[in-house]
Amino acid sequence: MGSDKAARSPQGSGGNQEEACLICVALRKFQLECVEDLGARMPQSLCSGHTWLVAKSADAGAAADFLLRLIGHALKEESAPLRCEMCLWMAQEENRELDEFAKKLLTPTYPEWFREHGGLCIPHARKLFDRVGREFREIIVLAVQRETMALKDELVALSRSAKAGMQTHAGVLGRAAEHLVGKRGLFFRN
Ligand SMILES: [Zn+2]
Ligand SMILES: [Zn+2]
Repeated sequence: MGSDKAARSPQGSGGNQEEACLICVALRKFQLECVEDLGARMPQSLCSGHTWLVAKSADAGAAADFLLRLIGHALKEESAPLRCEMCLWMAQEENRELDEFAKKLLTPTYPEWFREHGGLCIPHARKLFDRVGREFREIIVLAVQRETMALKDELVALSRSAKAGMQTHAGVLGRAAEHLVGKRGLFFRN
């Protein structure tokens, strides 16, 4: 029973095709909340990525009010542009998520589960690696290597099939990009 429970993904995804980075998934949720909660959060400045996200995702009325305010601000402030506050919140949230993850590794069953099932993109694996004890570093490396090797095999197969003019499953390209740089549409200051 215990092992059944441990084998289940925290997001309830399960299949090996869906091994999204757990930190990226949490950040995407957080980013969406920031955009949905614009009125309450009142950022004064946004980067281009977050401005476009607001223009695309927020409810139209709130987005219009918000963009009006930003336009007013942008015209007033002729000196150095302000930093994007949403990027700053994202960086703080990422930090918090990485700490949470590092704490989870200290619980009895999680390291084992993570090595077998957990996904992390390479940038988040690197960041996590830097903040855990030596005893967990091997687990992170193993988990990332497993995912990397599987993707490499799929990319090699895709490349061969595509060059041979065969029908291909190009979804692997997106998964490889995600593994390499994190989820699409996530913006935050490095
Ligand atoms: Zn990630
Ligand atoms: Zn931003």
